[in-house]
Amino acid sequence: MMHKIKTLLLIAMALSPTGSLLAWGATGHRIVAQIAYDNLNCRTRHKVNRILGEKGIVYWSTWADNIKSDTIYPTSYDWHYQDFDPGMSDSAVVATLTHYPTEGGNLFRAMDSLVALLREHPNDTDALKFVVHLMGDRFCPMHTAHLDDLGGNRVPVDWFREKRNLHWVWDEGIINAVGYSYTEYAEYIEHRYHDQKRAIRRMTWEELLLHNYHFTESIYEYQEGWNGNAYVYTYHFAPSMEWQLYAAGIRLAMLLNELY
Ligand SMILES: [Zn+2]
Repeated sequence: MMHKIKTLLLIAMALSPTGSLLAWGATGHRIVAQIAYDNLNCRTRHKVNRILGEKGIVYWSTWADNIKSDTIYPTSYDWHYQDFDPGMSDSAVVATLTHYPTEGGNLFRAMDSLVALLREHPNDTDALKFVVHLMGDRFCPMHTAHLDDLGGNRVPVDWFREKRNLHWVWDEGIINAVGYSYTEYAEYIEHRYHDQKRAIRRMTWEELLLHNYHFTESIYEYQEGWNGNAYVYTYHFAPSMEWQLYAAGIRLAMLLNELY
């Protein structure tokens, strides 16, 4: 099936050179996968376990990042993010869900193609691994951020006396500062945000995207007036970040329950 994915997506995606763009760090992706796993129904859980083998969904949630520089899926580099501009209208933001760009980040097209592939070939292991990972990226604010700064990669940030950038802060900085293991954090988030599950499940993709876009815009705005204290930053944004992780896990579970 690997060949099928390659053919499908090689045709669909345009190659384009981009800067270094990572993703939720490993902890973030593991949290999303754990939350999703906890919300799978029995039948889906059984099927996902069978397809992914004994290592399971949490282990494979970071695979798509690990193979980015590999040659097996050479265009997959652009599947992890979607480019936006500052100050877009809601209708322009929503249009990106269906009007795929011809170059740069193509997260939405990759997801749509992979989900379509899984509907036809539900046992395609690599397609499932990609979907598990990319659902996390879809809710990672700096993966739906501004093209002109490469999703925050060109926004320098002093983070606990280290030279970092805004993209890294959102991939890893805040999660690391909170300091939980992925199991501890997933458990905490599931308890803390449980009452929002129904609302998250009911949101359309348009609503979720607009929520994410405006949230990302608020991150850029906060940056302008921030005093540089990483403790203050973490305290300010950790709850919103947790909501993003929770929403990613719940929507991934929803999708897998539907597919399997
Ligand atoms: Zn990624």
